[in-house]
Amino acid sequence: MAEIQDDFERAADPALSTRPGYYGGFGGRFVPEPLMAALEELDYALQGVCEDPVFRRELERLLRDFAGRPTPLYHARNMSREAGGAAIYLKREDLCHTGSHKLNNSLGQCLLASHMGKSRVIAETGAGQHGVACATAAALLGLECEVYMGEVDIERQAMNVFRMELLGARVIPVGTGSRTLKDSVNAALRDWVENVRTTHYCMGSVVGPHPFPAMVRRFQSVIGVETLEQFDEVEGRLPDIVVACVGGGSNSIGIFSPFIGKGPTLVGIEAGGVGSSPGEHGGSLCLGDVGVLHGAMSYLLQDEDGQVAETHSVSAGLDYPGVGPEHAYLKENGLATYELVGDDEALEAALFLTRGEGILPALESAHAVAYARRTAETLGPDKRIVVCLSGRGDKDIDTLRERFG
Ligand SMILES: *Cc1c(COP(=O)(O)O)cnc(C)c1O
Repeated sequence: MAEIQDDFERAADPALSTRPGYYGGFGGRFVPEPLMAALEELDYALQGVCEDPVFRRELERLLRDFAGRPTPLYHARNMSREAGGAAIYLKREDLCHTGSHKLNNSLGQCLLASHMGKSRVIAETGAGQHGVACATAAALLGLECEVYMGEVDIERQAMNVFRMELLGARVIPVGTGSRTLKDSVNAALRDWVENVRTTHYCMGSVVGPHPFPAMVRRFQSVIGVETLEQFDEVEGRLPDIVVACVGGGSNSIGIFSPFIGKGPTLVGIEAGGVGSSPGEHGGSLCLGDVGVLHGAMSYLLQDEDGQVAETHSVSAGLDYPGVGPEHAYLKENGLATYELVGDDEALEAALFLTRGEGILPALESAHAVAYARRTAETLGPDKRIVVCLSGRGDKDIDTLRERFG
């Protein structure tokens, strides 16, 4: 299996080497004083385990035997033929245990929490995917787990709430603000300040104050490191384009990490939703401005009064008004480009992949599939596109039935 660890130091350096915790002008720690000590402790522990062979071996064992890594890199021949043009490969994170890439991160953070002597982990969740992954890792490692979830989301995602409860986690309803994901992050941060002695906050994406974006990147970089190796094995070179959907930005940073500045065009796909007006999409990088959200400087969506805007996407995982600071850095420096794909095109792409390849993708991932489909036909057969298929679509069956049933 690929070595995940060494990639972090290598690929994060252009920005992080100058000012720790910053990606150029983005990132940092915009948090109240009491959180600083917790973040320092976490950063220190993270550096420690990165050099600890016992931790590294244990994480590699769990990723292999529990999560099912390495996930395959699959040449989607039918999809490539039907799109006409470039060859399309899918990195199959949908085959990871619990159905998405989220477990890579939760296993890493929960193992870190055990090494730090914490007995409890907390998490935020929107659709419930990260909550389920965190509850799974906590069950495995014998940690108490509590998950903050907005009241609106609890209503929309009853099945994942029950899955978390089956796994032994407690779901705590959040009734403040818009009662969705961004409010759950705030609630989890407040809990963490009060209980930091016993508790680790398992953040679900490459967002939040330093060291969360760097830590989550590290645990997700296994996706890219495996892809680089697997692609080299079959093609003997680098891909031309690597594409992934961007919610908070963790599956995309994960697959991008070993390719940054190395030649392939890196494309992040944000939720175009149903239009470009506020509240109709989740395009923080494509349509937002620079500002501070959840303790980091990055791009975010605001309304005219400077309030964090409502977002919309057919896929709950892309329905977040912010984005990880490293993506802001990659965008500003031309190291990656970001595009929108709307609800309709994503739904069509999900059906296209299901009928053509027998793979039902998560609607988040279907945004990246749609971009690959639309781009492949403009390229010659010598070109190669790799898509990060971040998750499977079983959770989206109701949405698909409403649309195509
Ligand atoms: C949560 C989720 C995403 C979005 O999160 P990122 O941090 O941007 O990766 C994408 N795909 C799936 C399947 C998810 O569950």
